[in-house]
Amino acid sequence: MAYLTTHPDVVPVVSYRFGRGAVDIDRYIELEGYSSVRKCLEMEPDAIINEMKTSGLRGRGGAGFPTGMKWSFVPKQSAKPKYVLVNGDESEPGTCKDRLIFEHDPHSVIEGTMIAGLAIGAKMGFIYLRGEYRYLIQIMEKAVAAAYAKGFLGKGIFGSQHDFDVVVQTGAGAYEVGEESALMESLEGKRGVPRIKPPFPAVVGLYGGPTVINNAETLASVPHIFRIGAAEYAKYGTERNGGTRLFCISGHVEKPGVYELPMGYNLKKMIYEVAGGILGGKKLKAVVPGGSSVPVLLPDEIDIGMDFDQVAKAGSMLGSGGVVVLDESVCMVEFALRTIKFYRHESCGWCIPCREGTDWLQKSITRLHMGGAVDKDINNIQYIAENMLGRTFCPLGDAAAMPTIGFVKKFRKEFEDHLNGKGCPYHPAADYELA
Ligand code: NAD
Repeated sequence: MAYLTTHPDVVPVVSYRFGRGAVDIDRYIELEGYSSVRKCLEMEPDAIINEMKTSGLRGRGGAGFPTGMKWSFVPKQSAKPKYVLVNGDESEPGTCKDRLIFEHDPHSVIEGTMIAGLAIGAKMGFIYLRGEYRYLIQIMEKAVAAAYAKGFLGKGIFGSQHDFDVVVQTGAGAYEVGEESALMESLEGKRGVPRIKPPFPAVVGLYGGPTVINNAETLASVPHIFRIGAAEYAKYGTERNGGTRLFCISGHVEKPGVYELPMGYNLKKMIYEVAGGILGGKKLKAVVPGGSSVPVLLPDEIDIGMDFDQVAKAGSMLGSGGVVVLDESVCMVEFALRTIKFYRHESCGWCIPCREGTDWLQKSITRLHMGGAVDKDINNIQYIAENMLGRTFCPLGDAAAMPTIGFVKKFRKEFEDHLNGKGCPYHPAADYELA
């Protein structure tokens, strides 16, 4: 995957140090690294939070919650220690941006974590990496050790009165622990299943203490906000959607890759100009704009700005910024099947609507795809998915249901073409197992 491009619309803010040797702490410092946390050490916590609000940064994990607001929810006084938690459990299909940050600019994550710590009064941060990202563990551990060796972490950071420690931890490869409360359970050494919310982690989080948990890209953006100025950062984006974002463009495009673009960047332009258009000049069939958990868009629905509000207005979600492009050769029933297989496999099984719903959906869509379905199966798929919505402990159930509803609604004809023993008109010989 490419991460740098000569396209003039690409703005290197979070990717400013990519490919420039910033894994080395001295090089990171040379490239203005650790200057933002030094600035923040001179600021009052409320002033840091206000700057974050000015920046318009919204959570880059997928939900788009305003970061400054999230930090402001942490109570000033707390009997229990407060924590900062980096969600580096990047597992959303089509999403591969956080790994680039860890790989190319690990100190930006550490620095962002420290700034969040100063803002909320935490003395400890945890960096939780996806289990499969084994090669990143060493990079992160080395970076943390280098920061300790310079006196940037530990007691009296940068010679100040503030202490701050950072621990790197990894998961064991479960999508579910990307959900913040399941991640905290996992970090506490328990089975990674979600907690009921509220209370939100900002009030009752890790070990029962108030906890700010942010996605890795969100926290890596923080030092850049203080480096270039919050108002300047905000200007890159649109109203209520400040800054830039790492968009991951995959699927049937000429130049798949991770591209840093302003928030609100036009999706059509992103596909046809930045990513070079549809592979082999074929016709576009559909686009999933934000990882696999969101409703699909049709070609006549992609002339939209990629920010949280505009994509929502178009009937989908910006999510994790993983843009998956599908050309005319794709069977949408097969695509729906692949998607639901993922969620069925990753459902933690903690709550029934998700555990059973994803299983029923997989079985029904498999039957349809193999040509063994009956008329009412299509409505049944829709009915099951609709009944999962909003009825599960965590968003995994919604994440399985929402795209399924979208596929049936927008490609109903294609689902009907699979009925009554006909099977898949795209790949007639394909044989799909049930599990
Ligand atoms: P959410 O909307 O429930 O919460 C977003 C954040 O805001 C959370 O940190 C939550 O604690 C906080 N929050 C919300 N309301 C609050 C309140 N009243 N007080 C205090 N804090 C509050 O969404 P979520 O469950 O965290 O995330 C869902 C998203 O995750 C989906 O949209 C999906 O796109 C994304 N996702 C991303 C990945 C990935 O690998 N990046 C994987 C799976 C899902």
